[in-house]
Amino acid sequence: MSDVVYLAPEEIPKKWYNILPDLPEPLPEPRDPEGEESRIDLLPKIFLKTALKQEFSKRRWIRIPDEVLEMYMHIYRPRPLVRARRLEKFLKTPARLYYKREDLSPTGSHKVNTAIAQAYYAAEEGYSRLTTETGAGQWGSALSLGASLMGLEATVYMVRFAYNWKPGRRTLMKLYGAECLPSPSDRTEFGRKLLKKDPNHPGSLGIAVSEGIEDALKNEDAVYCLGSVLNHVLLHQTVIGLEVLRQLEEIEEVPDFMISCLGGGSNFGGFAIPAIRKRLKGEWDTRFIAAQSMAAPNLVKGEYKYDFGDAAGFTPLLKMYTLGHDVEMPTIYAEGLRYHAAAPIISLLRKHGIVEAVAYETDEKEVFEAAKLFVSKEGFVPAPESSYSIKAAIDKAIEAKEKDEEWVIVFNVSGHGFVDLEAFNKVLFSNGT
Ligand SMILES: *Cc1c(COP(=O)(O)O)cnc(C)c1O
Repeated sequence: MSDVVYLAPEEIPKKWYNILPDLPEPLPEPRDPEGEESRIDLLPKIFLKTALKQEFSKRRWIRIPDEVLEMYMHIYRPRPLVRARRLEKFLKTPARLYYKREDLSPTGSHKVNTAIAQAYYAAEEGYSRLTTETGAGQWGSALSLGASLMGLEATVYMVRFAYNWKPGRRTLMKLYGAECLPSPSDRTEFGRKLLKKDPNHPGSLGIAVSEGIEDALKNEDAVYCLGSVLNHVLLHQTVIGLEVLRQLEEIEEVPDFMISCLGGGSNFGGFAIPAIRKRLKGEWDTRFIAAQSMAAPNLVKGEYKYDFGDAAGFTPLLKMYTLGHDVEMPTIYAEGLRYHAAAPIISLLRKHGIVEAVAYETDEKEVFEAAKLFVSKEGFVPAPESSYSIKAAIDKAIEAKEKDEEWVIVFNVSGHGFVDLEAFNKVLFSNGT
């Protein structure tokens, strides 16, 4: 039998799975900070109506619109699940390893799965422009792609520091026809104020979020889109895990472990949540492991409490495992994992012991060595973030060998690393210079 499990186009999931009605306890509601302007009242002015409806929906299954399904196929869905036979052999492990190939995305990450849905709803609701922020550039690229496929404009506020050192990402967004501005920019009041103080302000994700939101608030034609953390983003991403369930059914495997990297929780959630349903129903006893960086070990070292979703404190308070919204996090190349808190859904599952977490050192050496091994045995270049998932899967495969266990280990490769090759070069081949 082939080591690559394909699904036929007509086997693409037609509905997203909403875990809210199946959680072990109700998800704590968002709150407003005391004695300050209400953030909750502002939400309808910033976000898509459909996104907000989905955010609080109690319906277990939500239909994927036909046009979104068509675009999913256009960006190469369903995506294969691959047996890592060469890697198994090299590790001499009795475990069976499988990985999901979200790296086949045209922009290099799973983020297009929600970008396309959000762009579709924006067009449906009559908006002509999407605004957002981006750090590393993966979310900005994904939303630019979504906007271009739907014939919308996109304005991406990119943290100036990243804008300057990642010209590749910038170019990609421009190819999609998006406007990519270094943040702080002169486009918003907030940006102009900061530029006045320091014309070379390096920016931050919090500042870029503020600019994206201000732009959407002040312009009726524009709506702001977010790429992780929120319930509706995880909902859209369940297309990954629903495909994986079908693929595992086809090869008659039940996973002992499902593993992926986690920053805010969208790829981990999308990949794991449909299988978590099976565990909640008592059908599977799969363990779910989130792979993190010690730069942002929100699930490992965070506290479960109400906190802002963004550094600037624009969002309502959400109950999450958090390191504090204004915590300083060391820089790493896997920039997508550098987020202070984990999605409320994942946090609640963590509290109930259903999601576990590991965190790796900030020098990223052991993680990128694992990525190098994966490239040499499997041939695909993972994103720096996805390398954490690979490292955790390899660690489990080695443990299986030590314990002589025939574990089935399924992991997600959330993106490819072709726009981030320099990260691997710096850590693996530059002798620390
Ligand atoms: C953004 C990103 C991540 C981290 O974000 P999550 O919301 O935790 O998934 C992981 N991998 C890739 C490739 C990304 O672009």
